[in-house]
Amino acid sequence: MILSQFQTVGHDLFTKGLVSSHSGNLSIRLGGRIIITRRTSRLGCLEEHDLIETGINKNDRNTPLASIELAVHRAIYRETPALAVVHAHPPHAVALSLTETEIVPTDTEGQTIVGRVPVLGWHMKVESGGLADIIAQALKKHRIVMVHGHGTFAIGQLLEEAHNCTTTLEESCQVICLLKSLQVGVPKK
Ligand SMILES: [Zn+2]
Repeated sequence: MILSQFQTVGHDLFTKGLVSSHSGNLSIRLGGRIIITRRTSRLGCLEEHDLIETGINKNDRNTPLASIELAVHRAIYRETPALAVVHAHPPHAVALSLTETEIVPTDTEGQTIVGRVPVLGWHMKVESGGLADIIAQALKKHRIVMVHGHGTFAIGQLLEEAHNCTTTLEESCQVICLLKSLQVGVPKK
């Protein structure tokens, strides 16, 4: 049941091109425990051994096997009511994160589901697992945030919800990029 949720979301992110072969990570919270994708797992074809269970606050022998973004996922669960986290590298959103400090969807679905999305980490050297506290704080007010030149972190009560935020933001970013390429800018309402 849990595995099939991870597989559905991971496969969809991969086939949509929102993660590359070994990038991105997914997790859910179960009380004081976290189930997170394994370090260097392939989201497009997850199997049972790719799901690593460890503590949110405590390390154990499984901790070194977890995704390199474990510190960010843990901080999010400590600071927000989220029960699921999706991290992806959607190309249009990443492109806009290199030029904007905030992404503001122009399409109705984007405005409704994701709203204004802050771009975090400008002028900071960000390594994997970095910015954990800044990302967690921002996710108290947003369902999804962008890390400058890197990717998205989305939250939800279910993986499916965080996945929906991720694909919706990417679609909004695609529309913004198309408008920019047509040089029409954002139409005024
Ligand atoms: Zn990443």
